[in-house]
Amino acid sequence: MTKRNIDIPAVCDKDLRVILSDLGILNQFESYGFQCKYCNQQIGWHNLGAIAMVDSVLVFVCDSAECLDEASMRTEL
Ligand SMILES: [Zn+2]
Repeated sequence: MTKRNIDIPAVCDKDLRVILSDLGILNQFESYGFQCKYCNQQIGWHNLGAIAMVDSVLVFVCDSAECLDEASMRTEL
């Protein structure tokens, strides 16, 4: 099991763009193809709170305090 956390505040949008592009999901992300793991709202650049790699699956969390609290309380995100 590989787990890699990407802490968004430490990564500027340009770097994140490269990361998403490397993963082949930049287009999907920019067309709002991903949802917050907790509240299921669509994630875009304007409301991206956190990203984590869990078992080779990218998990997105929005920037609401509730969801970020939820994410920080769970080691598996
Ligand atoms: Zn959320």
